[in-house]
Amino acid sequence: MSRLDGLYQQLILDHNKSPRNFGKLDPHSHYSHGVNPLCGDDYEVTLQVSPDGIIEKSAFVGSGCAISKSSGSLMTSAIEGKSVADVLALKDRFLNLLICDTVTEDDRAVLGKLAVLEGVKKFPARVKCAALVWRAIEDALSESAVQTISTE
Ligand code: ZN
Repeated sequence: MSRLDGLYQQLILDHNKSPRNFGKLDPHSHYSHGVNPLCGDDYEVTLQVSPDGIIEKSAFVGSGCAISKSSGSLMTSAIEGKSVADVLALKDRFLNLLICDTVTEDDRAVLGKLAVLEGVKKFPARVKCAALVWRAIEDALSESAVQTISTE
């Protein structure tokens, strides 16, 4: 585990231990189920979106590694109160942070706490863990939601 030490920063550990918004919204307006078979991460994401397209509440529940769980906690904390369009733009910026070498200080400023997960870039297998809940949100918000998405 020692080479992962740099990755498990305090914030990630904290969100893994006490995930925010952990549960299932009932009722909810949007739903998706995301699985990452490589790691065993498996989460349901529920959203309550207002008629004018604002994420009023979001929650996630399930099981998986520290990276996937902290990503779900950070994501649900970050998107509440934002418009669907803003959340999808944030998702693109976050996924870019995980894989791209051209991340700017501007990107990091917009991402805020989400930027702590940038460390997974050095561990390609963990990128899917961090991205999973965002893929699920993307699916939940799409017109043709497929209910269960897989990283494979
Ligand atoms: Zn994982």
